[in-house]
Amino acid sequence: MTILETLKAEFHAAFPRLASGNYVHFLMVRHSQSFPVFQTDGVLNTARTQAGLQTTDTMSRLVLFKRKQVTPERLAGRELLRSLQLTSADEADKEKFCEYNGENSCKKCPDCIIYGFAIGDSGSERSKVYSDSAFSLSSYELSHKSFTFNAPFEGGTMSEKGEMRSAINELDHVLPEVTFPTVETLRDPTYEGFLYVLGNLLRTRRYGAQESRTGTVKNHLIGIVFCDGEIFSNLYFTQAIYDAMKDDLNAPIDVICSQSQQVAETLLNNEPVRKRQQIFGDELNNLLAEVSAIYQDEAKLQETLSTLYQQTQSYAETYGAIAGKKKGKKS
Ligand SMILES: [Zn+2]
Repeated sequence: MTILETLKAEFHAAFPRLASGNYVHFLMVRHSQSFPVFQTDGVLNTARTQAGLQTTDTMSRLVLFKRKQVTPERLAGRELLRSLQLTSADEADKEKFCEYNGENSCKKCPDCIIYGFAIGDSGSERSKVYSDSAFSLSSYELSHKSFTFNAPFEGGTMSEKGEMRSAINELDHVLPEVTFPTVETLRDPTYEGFLYVLGNLLRTRRYGAQESRTGTVKNHLIGIVFCDGEIFSNLYFTQAIYDAMKDDLNAPIDVICSQSQQVAETLLNNEPVRKRQQIFGDELNNLLAEVSAIYQDEAKLQETLSTLYQQTQSYAETYGAIAGKKKGKKS
């Protein structure tokens, strides 16, 4: 029996309307691979925090806001759905795709239903994916570098319509191999919804400023936990890892991952939640191999995501923003 088969009992057959106490926590170490720009208005976001839980001196950390984490994952998922013809916004016009966070959101595709949307008066759906700001394990001083460069116009030139651009921009970049310990949570998924969100975590490579999407980041999954409530925050997780590794923050990523796994298992023992499944180590590696095999097999992937699309569509018709509309039409 595969690991995925042993997990099937943990999932809902259909997305429930109300929170039903099934949480899947994806424990990760996000690891920068080049020079991502996680900034707002030209500067990286930082926060002064306690260094560890036991190490009480303060330090500045880089902050990776939640939108900067989840948006690229959503876009990766939406790209895949489009490639499988699974996001048409219009029954009549199949070429009209669901628009991300816009007036033309379809309100029924896996992205709209799982990650949520809010469109003025025309409805909203709360996200079933919970995330929060992530913090660098090492200090801001050791995690960034400013680069100065000339900022050309879009056409690549330094003048446009006779106007010269003299601005020399200084952009603050995250350095390679900076780690951001992160918990991302999925509430009440179906089996297919679980595969979709996990696939997005494994397949998203570019995070950072949306226009440039400059920075590659690798998400190292270190554990998946099924339980009946929420668990520790990203900051708490980061501080606990800091205590365990403070003399060796530049350790190779394999060491950081195995230390982070041990820390996570210890922290989980103290959480007031009932844990139904905890998947770490070899078992996790086998699970990830099974998930990759689905993503590599076009027929299996099409089948999985088509099933997911039917689930989110029927959820939308029963409870969602398009349910009211349909009823309205009938009367
Ligand atoms: Zn949609």
